[in-house]
Amino acid sequence: MAHVKLHIPGPVEVSPKTFKAFCSPMIGHRGQGFKDLYAKMQPQLQQLLYTKQLVYLSTSSAWGVMEGAIRNVVHKKVLNCMCGAFSDKWLDVSKRCGKEAEALQVPWGSPIRAEQVDAKLATGQFDALTLIHNETSTGVMSPLAEIAALKKKYPDVMFIVDAVSSMTGVKIEFDALGIDVLLAGTQKAFALPPGLTVFTCSPAALAKAATTKDRGYYFDFVEFQKNAEQSMTPSTPSIGHVYALASKLEDIFAEGLDARFARHKKTVEATRGWATKNGFTFYPDAGFESMTLTCVNNGAKPGGRVVDVAKLQKSVKDQGFLIDGGYGKIKGTTFRLSSMGDETEATMNQLFAALDNGMKGL
Ligand SMILES: *Cc1c(COP(=O)(O)O)cnc(C)c1O
Repeated sequence: MAHVKLHIPGPVEVSPKTFKAFCSPMIGHRGQGFKDLYAKMQPQLQQLLYTKQLVYLSTSSAWGVMEGAIRNVVHKKVLNCMCGAFSDKWLDVSKRCGKEAEALQVPWGSPIRAEQVDAKLATGQFDALTLIHNETSTGVMSPLAEIAALKKKYPDVMFIVDAVSSMTGVKIEFDALGIDVLLAGTQKAFALPPGLTVFTCSPAALAKAATTKDRGYYFDFVEFQKNAEQSMTPSTPSIGHVYALASKLEDIFAEGLDARFARHKKTVEATRGWATKNGFTFYPDAGFESMTLTCVNNGAKPGGRVVDVAKLQKSVKDQGFLIDGGYGKIKGTTFRLSSMGDETEATMNQLFAALDNGMKGL
């Protein structure tokens, strides 16, 4: 079957180089070979997350660590900041973990604002909050720095941040932001196959986790720290993913972090340019559009052009590209184009050509 290139916002297209690394022969995860592999990556991961803390590797999709964070650092009550499908789900997950949880819900398409978080935290009810930096379902990027600045006012509140679809596409300075948990699944902006999550914790989060009784084993942050000190993981990791990550980190540092962030800015701006040129508007509130994907308005909000998304998707797929037809309750009334990972202006132009062709037939 002919390969259809992924331009959905996760999983994204995986390069042949990454795949080759992913298929490396297995080694023992307690042997020196594995330790050397992880130890070599550690400083690169720390540079990528702008942290002095150890960066952990979890063999799970992002939800594993998203749930793990709840289990490790929530004692009293968690504030789940909600602005789309993934962030909304985190409230449900918190409750399923048996935690007291409350929603800070804003309409889909809007970002989470620092003033709203401040008002909730001022009640003194919360000892943790969850925030999704880049809400992939709506294409909204919330102002992380402004929200993280509240940490100074509420030092005892654990700030748990999902950067699943922004990490490596946008600069996120973990230590400087002062947040407590930062995580990302690797099938989004890292452009690895799904199944691995990269994350780190503040010393305060680790200290708090150590006092949490029912934090389980598989996602025990204290175990991750203890093992990472020896360049190991608590349980057998997906070793193929670790090889793939090592290969990707080579690529990332060969390109340079700033150049990588600048490339993501260019490709997302080009995508917005394609949409605007074709008469579309955007689903996110102006000024809060994601830097790694574009959520095009297609009737979910007033204004702009409306097309038959299923038809457009099919035509584009026949030309070898998969785009997303909208997520959850905005399926069909939005569609999403991913520009994260390895995409360049040249590869995006190939997608735009296929989209232009598809638009002719509508
Ligand atoms: C994809 C995604 C998730 C969920 O990731 P899984 O790999 O399904 O666990 C969580 N948060 C965001 C922002 C995402 O884009």
